[in-house]
Order: sequence, then C-alpha cells, then structure tokens
Amino acid sequence: MINIGTGDPIKLTKNLIRHRSITPVNDGAIEQLSHWLEELGFSCNILSFDQEGTDTVKNLWAKVGSEGPTICFAGHTDVVPTGNIDEWSSNPFEAVEIDNKIIGRGAADMKGAIASFIAATKKFIEENPDFPGSIGFIITGDEEGCAVNGTKKILRWMEKKNLTFDDCIVGEPTNPSYLGEMIKIGRRGSVNGIITVEGIQGHVAYPHLADNPIPKLLRILENLIKDNLDNGTDHFQPSNIEITSIDIGNEATNVIPHKASANFNIRYNDIFDNKKIEEEVHKRVRVLNYNYSINFEHSGDAFLTHPGQFTKNLSNIIENQTGRRPELSTSGGTSDARFIKDYGNVVEFGLVGATMHKIDESASIEDIRNLTEIYYQTLKKYFYS
Ligand SMILES: [Zn+2]
Repeated sequence: MINIGTGDPIKLTKNLIRHRSITPVNDGAIEQLSHWLEELGFSCNILSFDQEGTDTVKNLWAKVGSEGPTICFAGHTDVVPTGNIDEWSSNPFEAVEIDNKIIGRGAADMKGAIASFIAATKKFIEENPDFPGSIGFIITGDEEGCAVNGTKKILRWMEKKNLTFDDCIVGEPTNPSYLGEMIKIGRRGSVNGIITVEGIQGHVAYPHLADNPIPKLLRILENLIKDNLDNGTDHFQPSNIEITSIDIGNEATNVIPHKASANFNIRYNDIFDNKKIEEEVHKRVRVLNYNYSINFEHSGDAFLTHPGQFTKNLSNIIENQTGRRPELSTSGGTSDARFIKDYGNVVEFGLVGATMHKIDESASIEDIRNLTEIYYQTLKKYFYS
C-alpha cells in the first residue's frame, strides 16, 4: 500500500492507473483508496457485494465528520478493457506521461477525478480540521460492468445504516473537449427493446403456404421511427429511437423464416417514464395488427437535478478556475447518478471525456490540477458560505 504523501493528484492518478482494475477485477484499487482516506481520518467500509450469476465486486463507503451537512464524492475505480495493447503509445497500466498528459486506461474515466477528489479533500481537511459538516465517498468497482453489485447496493446499505447525505458530485468525464465545458444535471432514460414477429416457415416457391415475418417487421420498424417522439423539454433534448440490429438468422436461400427480430434502444427525456415509453412503442406497433411481442430491458428513467445554489456555486467556481461558464446538460449516456438521485442532490463534473474507452485514453496534467482546485473550492464554499 502506498501512502498519500504530499497528496499530489498526478502521483495519485498514476498510482490508481497502475491497479489493473478491469471490471470486475479490483487489483487493490479500492484498498488503496481506503488507505489514503484512512490517513486523512476517514472511517472506511470496504463492501463486497455479490449476486447469483454475477461477479463479486468490492466497493467503498468512507466518511469523515459526525454532523451535517454532508457532501459526497462518487465514482468508480473500475475501467473498461484495453483493446489491443500494441496499438497504445505506452502500456495502458504504466501511466506514462507524454506531452503533458497521463496515458492510461481510466485516466479520464475516472481515476484522474478520483485522485482529484482525494487531493482536494486532503488539502481542505488539513486547512480546516474542524470543518462544520461531513464528507463522504461512494466508490464502486462495478460501473463499467452490469452495475448490479455497485453504487445501487452501497446506497441501499447506507440506507439501512441511516447514513444520509445532502449533495453529491460524481466525477464522470462530463466535458466533451475542454475542462469547464459541461456539468451534467441529469440524464436521459434508456431502454432496450427486442421486437419479434412470428410467421409461418415455408418454401420460397410456395409462399401461399407460408407467412413471411420479415416484411411485417420492416413495416413495424418504419412505424416505430416515422414520427419524432417529442420535441425536447426545458432541460432535455428530444427523445430518440435507434434501431440497432435486425436479426433473422436465416442461412437458407429457399426458406421463408418463421420469425424475425429487431433490437432498438430509446433514450428518452422527462416526458416519459418506463411505463409511458412502453405504451408509446406498443401504440406505434399495434396499429399494424400483426402478431408481435416485445421484450423491454430498462436501465432507468430520465432524471433532473433542478439547478439550485449548489449547481450555481459549482458553475461559478468552474468559471473562475477555467474561464469557461459550463453548460448545464442532460446529454450523453447513463451513469451511476441515476441511482444516487434517489437519495440526494446529484450533479456530475469531471475531466474531459474525449478519449474515454479508447486506445490511448489520457488526462491532461493541467486539467487534473485544475479539477483538484475546483473540488477543493467546492468544499470550501460548501462548508464556509
Ligand atoms: Zn465512468
């Protein structure tokens, strides 16, 4: 275990990248974080969660302080696979510096932000050992995977122990190209669907004895995407359906298949919830009067943290530090904020996401230092304003 030392966020980032924590592997990352936080006076709980059919995952809840208000930093130590290591400029787990950037898997998403959380907290606590309130850390090793044994379960565990918080910053890489560009104040809902049309299998030369499901499926899909779902709302872009695959699996050239399926994904705004979006899909399909079935798999409704004082303070601090006024956005994919929002106020702000999940993922050294300062100023403003 490496000690926190001066708490330099660059050193901490490099150390975290050297833990090869590809979901669900932890490789000591959670223990290292826990060690640093204990050095800062936090009480730490390493929580292992499992469920049948999934891998056991290590998570961390850490807290310092005994009164409110409580601000939490939240994030994940797990990373996505590297892809072909030979295509990287340097080993993705060595955290080499090239052109003032740290190259490594997880540099942007989101070990750089976690290192910034730690460095900011160290600086704040050393300057204000008796600060009026509490700081918590909600860290999971299961965000990039199925997210079953991660944040959701930490929050449920906290609920049982009566551990609450008021506000939370998730350190996902929210900025598309420059630090200071974007705070996420919500996310769209997401649902996958598989639609299947049954027909009757037969010989292509005797179509009157068969019933081809493919033309029906095509008409259904056309209906599904013909009209816009909506025109967007105050804080959300329009909802969108994308057809992601059409699967017949028919290798014969002379057989009418007995069924045809297609996959789609919908990213929807706060006009819909999981029931309403299913109803809308059925409405668009039902009018054609075919025999069909749809399997929906939901990953969470849209949510919005209404911009208030916390978001305003964060925006001001970001603008002071970077010279950019961040856009308040609900765009992009889902994150663990979808679970956290049920327990407290949540916003997301981290590094630049341009290279996340890619070959040569990187984080700028200057950005990591600026992000540390932004988190530090946020703590100061939170407890002393
Ligand atoms: Zn992430």
